[in-house]
Order: sequence, then C-alpha cells, then structure tokens
Amino acid sequence: MKLAARVGKVKPSLTLAIAAKAKAMKVEGIDVCSFSAGEPDFDTPAHIKAAAKQALDQGKTKYGPAAGEPKLRSAIARSLRSENKLDYQAENVIVTNGGKHGLFNLMLALIEAGDEVIIPAPYWLSYPDMVRLAGGVPIIVQTNASTDYKITPDQLRAATTTNTKLFILNSPSNPTGVVYTPAEIAALAQVVVEQDLLVVSDEIYAKIVYDGAGHISIGSLGKEIFERTITSSGFAKAYSMTGWRLGYLAGSTDLIKAVSTIQGHSTSNVCTFAQYGAIAALEGSQDCVEQMRKAFAERRKVMLERLNAIPGLTCAPPDGAFYLFINISKTGMTSLEFCDALLEQRQVAAIPGIAFGADDHIRLSYATDMASIEKGMDRLDKFVRSM
Ligand code: PMP
Ligand code: GLU
Repeated sequence: MKLAARVGKVKPSLTLAIAAKAKAMKVEGIDVCSFSAGEPDFDTPAHIKAAAKQALDQGKTKYGPAAGEPKLRSAIARSLRSENKLDYQAENVIVTNGGKHGLFNLMLALIEAGDEVIIPAPYWLSYPDMVRLAGGVPIIVQTNASTDYKITPDQLRAATTTNTKLFILNSPSNPTGVVYTPAEIAALAQVVVEQDLLVVSDEIYAKIVYDGAGHISIGSLGKEIFERTITSSGFAKAYSMTGWRLGYLAGSTDLIKAVSTIQGHSTSNVCTFAQYGAIAALEGSQDCVEQMRKAFAERRKVMLERLNAIPGLTCAPPDGAFYLFINISKTGMTSLEFCDALLEQRQVAAIPGIAFGADDHIRLSYATDMASIEKGMDRLDKFVRSM
C-alpha cells in the first residue's frame, strides 16, 4: 500500500510511545518508575466527575454544535477575560479534543504549503510535526542555558522571513519549565507586531507555576498584539483531565469560524457530557487546582534536591509545568542511549531530549506520586554512579 507522502514527514509521538511502553511493562508485573508522560497522577476532582455524570443522566448524549456547548464557550471566554485579561467573547472560543487537537486544527486553518512557523527549541514535540502535516515548514530556533532556554527578541527577528506566518510561544514551557517574565513577553510581542506575524500562545501550564513566578498572556499586552494572538489551552493539566480530551482555542471570530468548519468535517463536537465536566471545572471552586499545584511544588523540591546530588547531571529549577529538563552531556551518551539504558537496566522511564530538539538532555515528569519519585531517583542515582 502506498501511503501519502505526508506520513513520511512525521514521527510517532515519543512521549506517548514511551508512556505506553512503561504502562505495558507495569501490566506485565515489572516494577517501573515512570517519569515519562506529562500526565498528573491525581484523579479528576469529584465535582467535575459529578457534573459529567449528571449531564449523562440528563441525556446530554447527542451531537452538539461543532464549536462546543454555548455554556462552555461562554465560561471559557469569561475565565480568559477575568484571569488572563484577554477580551474574548463566546464566539471567539472553540472547544477542541484536547489542546493538541486545537493546535492541529489551527495549523490546518492557517498554514499553506511553504509557510514558515517559528518554534523555539527545546519545544513540545508535536509542534513541528503538526506544522509539517499542514504542509508548513518548522523553523527551529535553538536556545540554550545562557538565555534560560528562552528565545530572545533578536533571535525571533532574525528567524523571520517573508514566508513567516506564525510564532509558537509556550510559557510555562514543556519541556524546560521556563516561564517568560512580563518584560520578556512584552519584548517578543513588540517583534510580533513589528514583523506583522501571528503568535499562538500555548498556555496549557498557566496555572502550574512556582516560587512566585507569574503567568501573563501575550495577547493581554495591547490591541495590536491581541489581534495577532491565538490563545491555546486546555483542562488536562490544571484539572487532571488528560483522558477527557478537552481543550480550546481563542482568537478572532473569523479564525474560530474557520477552525470550527474544519472541526465540523473531522471530529464534530467534543464529547457532549464531558463538556459539562469542563463547565464545572471552570465554575466550581478552584481549590483543587491549588491543591494539585502545591503537591507538584513539593515533588519538584524533592526531585530537584535528589537530582542535584547526582554527579554529572545538571538542571535549572523550573518555574512552571511539571518537568525537570536535565543536561546529561557529561555522561557522553545521547539522550536515546541514556533513556534506553535507564529503562532497561533500572526500569525508570524518561523522555530523551532529542524528541524536544535537545539531544544532550532528558526530561523527567514529576506529575507522579512521591513514593515513585523517591524510588525512581534512587535508581537514577545508582544508574549514573555505576557508569
Ligand atoms: N501543549 C503542551 C505544551 C503540552 O505539553 C500538551 C501535552 N499534552 C498539550 C499542549 C496538549 O494537551 P492535551 O491535548 O492533553 O490537552
Ligand atoms: N504533553 C504531554 C507530554 O509532553 C503528554 C503527552 C503528549 O501529548 O505529548 O508528555
């Protein structure tokens, strides 16, 4: 069978593949410590589950509008206005099958063959492949520890060509955990406006920040940048709803209509009763978000302490998300060699940095329980010391 050429341009998602492998090993009875996928170990808060169950009982089991339940679109717009200072109304919002699907649909709606999309590396691994699937060209801009893995305004300007369509900003970042300061975001916004670009701001980790780091939305910094911004987020991380597949995009009404048309021909609406869970997530008490964030903060502290005691591995404290992005260059191994050996010899699952465009790093997710963190870090320590 001859597959379409586009399939040859992309790779399977390594985060999903390694997480699935670790889960399968557990099922086989192997004692694996998985630091692989960025998936909170907490159950979805009870009031959110109760709202979805109630919606099921009330017969919310039919097709709905492709762009989402009106009540959820309004609730999302309200929360973007009050928490992010983004002046969106319900018609500026589309509910998508996870943040991933929103971004994918956005690429289909915006990117034409040959359009360039600027992606700072290290990047979340799906961005370049989504751009390729839409026929675009990912332009990877390397960052390093000297700028805290942040793209600078000069780098953004230098990467811009007449073919540049879009810049992807992800703060807090997966995989590095860096959070851009308000001044840094403002400086990038200035370049976006000056170069007449569009920016998609992936804010899925916005509620998971530490040590006083504050999240601001680039679109909140003035009319000109607001008009060039598409805001992307979802419920998976902050509300521990990964399997519900609930995310959203917010942008101009024309763009949201276009994305909705694409969605109408691909998935239709997101699972109707699940959307009622999302309404409860936004309208109910936010204590659950803070409780989980506090737990992540504790785990981050322990994991960093343990990591810093391992000779040869280095990692800057992340300001947000739930990952440690660890420099392994002193071991002399590639990230794939390191992660394969770690899983094989010590049954610890980690994601090789090559998946994120940084082969001298590995990523550990600390969205897992403290006992696994202690055990997994013991094993990582032994692994490195026995090299
Ligand atoms: N953006 C980033 C940066 C992510 O890490 C993820 C991880 N899942 C997503 C978007 C998409 O999340 P989901 O599709 O589960 O909402
Ligand atoms: N985004 C998470 C991660 O990076 C979940 C897996 C995925 O969708 O890539 O691990």
